[in-house]
This record gives sequence, structure tokens and C-alpha cells, in this order.
Amino acid sequence: MSELAINGGKPVRGRDRLFPVYNPIGVEEKTAVMRVLDSGVLSQYIGVWHPDFYGGPEVKAFEKEWAEKFCVKHAVAMNSATSCLIAAVGALGIRPGDEVIVSPYTMVASVSCILWYGGVPVFADVEPEYFCLDPKSVEAAITPRTKAIVVVDLFGGAYDADAICTIAKKHNLKIIEDAAQAPGASYKGKKVGTLGDIGVYSLNFHKHIHTGEGGVAVTDDDALAERLQLIRNHAEAVVEAKGVKDLTNMVGQNYRLTEIQAAIGREQLKKLDALVAKRRENCAYIAARTRDMPGLAPAPERPQSEHVFYMQPFLYDEKVVGIPRARFVEALLAELPDASISGGYVKPIYRMPLFGQVPGLCPTAERLYGSELLLHEMMYPGLNKKDLDDVVEAFHKVYRHRGEL
Ligand SMILES: *Cc1c(COP(=O)(O)O)cnc(C)c1O
Repeated sequence: MSELAINGGKPVRGRDRLFPVYNPIGVEEKTAVMRVLDSGVLSQYIGVWHPDFYGGPEVKAFEKEWAEKFCVKHAVAMNSATSCLIAAVGALGIRPGDEVIVSPYTMVASVSCILWYGGVPVFADVEPEYFCLDPKSVEAAITPRTKAIVVVDLFGGAYDADAICTIAKKHNLKIIEDAAQAPGASYKGKKVGTLGDIGVYSLNFHKHIHTGEGGVAVTDDDALAERLQLIRNHAEAVVEAKGVKDLTNMVGQNYRLTEIQAAIGREQLKKLDALVAKRRENCAYIAARTRDMPGLAPAPERPQSEHVFYMQPFLYDEKVVGIPRARFVEALLAELPDASISGGYVKPIYRMPLFGQVPGLCPTAERLYGSELLLHEMMYPGLNKKDLDDVVEAFHKVYRHRGEL
């Protein structure tokens, strides 16, 4: 008789016992939304130089609260993190032909944002255990045309800010920090997202906290904050009256967040610490119980940093486990049919049609994608101890009976 569900055995958790869904939205958000609906002003922006150029009371309050929470001078809310990333590239003055170094192992917007200003993405490789840009690879990618680096705090863990900021300073490069997956994370006591010139957070439905769609860009630099605000809201119609002299990239967009979303965001922000603490607690619980399987182990946390686990990464060694990762993941999903467990994350971005489809450019990213990384999200707040125990048991069961695969 086979034990594994993939071979017809009894699953750890059948379709009759689904996991609860992740839902951080509650009565607080409902009340906030009603406040805005009752006001009748669902967005208060005007795309000319006017007191409402900066949006309405909810947007302004949200930005103030976000800046305080993240210990940063300016927060500029927008309708997505993608918009924030594009605005950040524009604000830094990237021009056609400028090179911007970026990770290929990320959500595509970290890279595509460079293209909107005619910049050229130059891919550097990532670290094998932390999955963020590898400082050595970044340094090797620098040319006289390099202007900036887009770093990504992948899966909720900080990038190597000390090393990469040192390189940036030496070569006079700007840093955009894509912290979409890492709100609340920290590095040496400093909030992730504030470890570069401009940081970006996402508030899309899949992130730790959300407003449906939304994003926030942060910076300590007054001039960059102004340029972000201009690009967010029709810069070309505003610069003259506002007396803005540097017109580089001052063609604006409509990247405005609505009052409804901002009101939701204010409530979500209050919940961030508790949601992150629960994720960390759940991941520690799972990690402590999954260290006894040679070839499969939770990835380490960068020293002196606090991870916020957008996902929990595991490192997988096919030679030691003896089973292809894809097969192992398939077997896990048979044990936990509605679980979010996957292998590889994303295909390195340079292999997409738009980016030239150059296989093998970044060997570490290729290996992680091909065989070495296993991800799961079965540690989100709302799961109970039994849920976590089932996740742990599925890992052990598949590992124990991997000879069947
Ligand atoms: C989610 C995400 C984005 C994009 O966020 P949106 O708000 O959906 O535009 C960008 N970068 C990374 C790393 C992400 O995970």
C-alpha cells in the first residue's frame, strides 16, 4: 500500500478540511470606508498647482502616518507599487541609455519600471541563501553609463544594504529599494524600504497589508519627494506655477490613490506590527520542526535583520534528497491540496521575450529557479497550531516516503 497521497494514500489534509483564507480586513476598515462614502469625496486630487494637488484628508493623513511608522521624512502614496517604482526611476532623473542594475529574480515591475524612461536594465546575480542582489555581482556590472541600482527585499528579507550602499556611494549611484514584499522588516534596526534613496511598498491584495491596489514610495530627500509627487499627478501642468526649474522627466501620470483606499490603508497600517509578528512566530514554529531533513531546510535569515516572510523560503538539494524538486512539490500538494507551496519562484526576467531570452546569464538565479528554492505561504496569520502542524507533517511525510516517488 502506498502512503503518499500522490500515489493514492490518505492525504494529511483532504479537500474536506480547507485552510482558512488570509483576510486582514475587518470592521475597522468598513467603518473607515463608510466615513469616506458619507463625505461624498472619494478622491480630492486636482492635477494643477492648488492646495488639492496633494490629495484629500485621508491621503494626507495616511502618508503622514506611514512616514511616522517607517521613520522616514516623506511618504508618497500611489495607486500601486508599480506606479511608485516608475515614478522613482523618473524622480532619479534616469534618461534614455542610462544603465540601471537590477535583480532578475523578482516580480517583473522591479525591472520594467526602468524601461519607461528609456533606461537599460543590467542584470546582476543574487545571493544563494538570501536571494537578494549579490554585492560582488553588482560591482562587476557597473559601467560608466550606470546611474542606479534597483534592490529588492525578496520574500520579506532585507538586501545587503551595507555592502551595496558602499558600492553605490563609491560609484555615485542612486538606490531604489523595492520593499514591496517587506513592509515592517528591518536591517540593523532601520526599516527596510528606507535603506536607499527611494523605497517602495505595495498594498496590493496579496501583500501583508492591502488596500485592494496601492503603493507607497518613501524618501528622506525633499527634492526627490517633490519629483515623486509631480510625476504622480500631471507634472507638466504643475511645474510652471509651482516654480519647478528642473524639467527632466517632468511629464506626469495619474498615479493617485483614492480617499477610500487611503482610509483603508490607515487601518491596515495599524495592524501591520501584529500581522508581521504572527508571521514571524509561525515561520519560527515551522522552521524549528523542519530542520531534520537533510537536503531540505528553511533558508537562513540575514544576520542583524528581521524578516517579515511574505513567503517562507526553503533551500532544496536534489542530490541529497534524491528526488527532483518539482516531484517533491507535487507530492506536498497532494497531501495539502489547497496549500500555497511552489518551487522556483519566477523564471529569471532576462529569459522573458521582452528582455532578450538570454538563458544562463545569472547562474545563482538559474539554480534557485531550476531546483534549489522551495516556497510556501502556509504560515499566514489566521492559521492555527493544528494547521501549522499539518504543514510540518506534510513535509515530513513526503520526505519519509520519498522512496515512493
Ligand atoms: C507585488 C510586487 C510589486 C508590484 O506591486 P503592485 O502594487 O502590484 O504594483 C513590485 N515588486 C515586488 C517585489 C512585488 O512583490
